[in-house]
Amino acid sequence: MKVADHIQSLVPYKPGKPISETQREFGISKVIKLASNENALGISSRVEEAIARASKDSLFRYPDPSCYELVQQLSRSLGVLPNQIAIGNGSNELIDLLIRIFCEKDDAIVTQQYAFIAYQLCAQACGVKTHAVPVDSKLRLNLNDTLDVVQTNSKVKIVFLPNPNNPTGTLIPSHDLKAFLQKMKAVSPETLVVLDEAYHEYVTSSDYETATSWLGEFSNLLVLRTFSKSFGLAGLRIGYLVGSSASVDYINRVRNPFNVNELAQIAAIAALEDQDFITQVVKLNTQEYLRFAQAFEANKIPYFESHGNFILFETLGEAESIFQNLLREGIILRPVGNYGLKNHLRVSIGTAQENEEAISKILKVLKAAGRIKKEESIQNGNTRGQSHYN
Ligand SMILES: *Cc1c(COP(=O)(O)O)cnc(C)c1O
Repeated sequence: MKVADHIQSLVPYKPGKPISETQREFGISKVIKLASNENALGISSRVEEAIARASKDSLFRYPDPSCYELVQQLSRSLGVLPNQIAIGNGSNELIDLLIRIFCEKDDAIVTQQYAFIAYQLCAQACGVKTHAVPVDSKLRLNLNDTLDVVQTNSKVKIVFLPNPNNPTGTLIPSHDLKAFLQKMKAVSPETLVVLDEAYHEYVTSSDYETATSWLGEFSNLLVLRTFSKSFGLAGLRIGYLVGSSASVDYINRVRNPFNVNELAQIAAIAALEDQDFITQVVKLNTQEYLRFAQAFEANKIPYFESHGNFILFETLGEAESIFQNLLREGIILRPVGNYGLKNHLRVSIGTAQENEEAISKILKVLKAAGRIKKEESIQNGNTRGQSHYN
């Protein structure tokens, strides 16, 4: 069996450790998983009802291959034409399709250092190179550097910009993004720019505006969204892309005909109708973000300001043993060593109770390892939620 080098060297995506596996390995029953940026509140009750109805009525049939109802609904709410929308088996599938469609072997994509790792993994599987533009000490990207890489490398076909990024939580201010798109249009009009807005609903910053409102201006712009995060449908696998009808047409030619299952379609439609749920989810996230920020500050644990439903923090030394010791305490966080962040962990923001428990265990484990001083440790300070890196 002969396998190409770029496949031989692939390292599988490392997902968050499952609850059941942690229970088995450590012989504990109570486990809190804050490792995969899943929704703290689960799914909305309206979605639950829609799924229950569908399970009775329609699962013996193939799903609608065009996702007609969902596309219509998104078209209305986003103010774009139905033929500008493609639905995927999670936005991950759409990332994969974009690379397969628009890159040939030995072409390249550009993203930022510490970007969501799926871009690089999907690229590598196709023999496509990834240029990761370095970020500054606050993990922020300078888009002029990104433009330089595109301009000096004719192999670049797609620029992937996660906004906000996972696992760092950083945001690219909309003003900078728009200026970048204008320059790209002038110097490299053929190169696609994909803005991954997986955490769109969570962002409260005034520096953020969705790129879906700029689609009329930039024909090479594509926007990715997902139902996995704020809508709570991670287990059903559904996400979407908005962009030019030409790019959507290619996606529809290449994707599997039944890539999005029936329950996912029905759940997504119901989820979009329940705006109250999203409001509740975002409110909780904004409140609970401050709980972590305050605890990190009070204990001098460096962390990065985040615009998603997770926070990246430093473990003040290697993170692996801290991760392991937290597992023993029944807390699953996310190691990010595969991103080159060996001294950091990412914690997803859960419910108040989960977060309180997680914070107390994080402090306990960091203290026991001598990473933070005992006398300085208080669980909730009264400082504002500002990162040490601000
Ligand atoms: C979670 C996440 C996604 C969503 O992936 P799905 O395949 O839709 O579950 C996409 N991009 C980023 C940056 C993410 O963090």
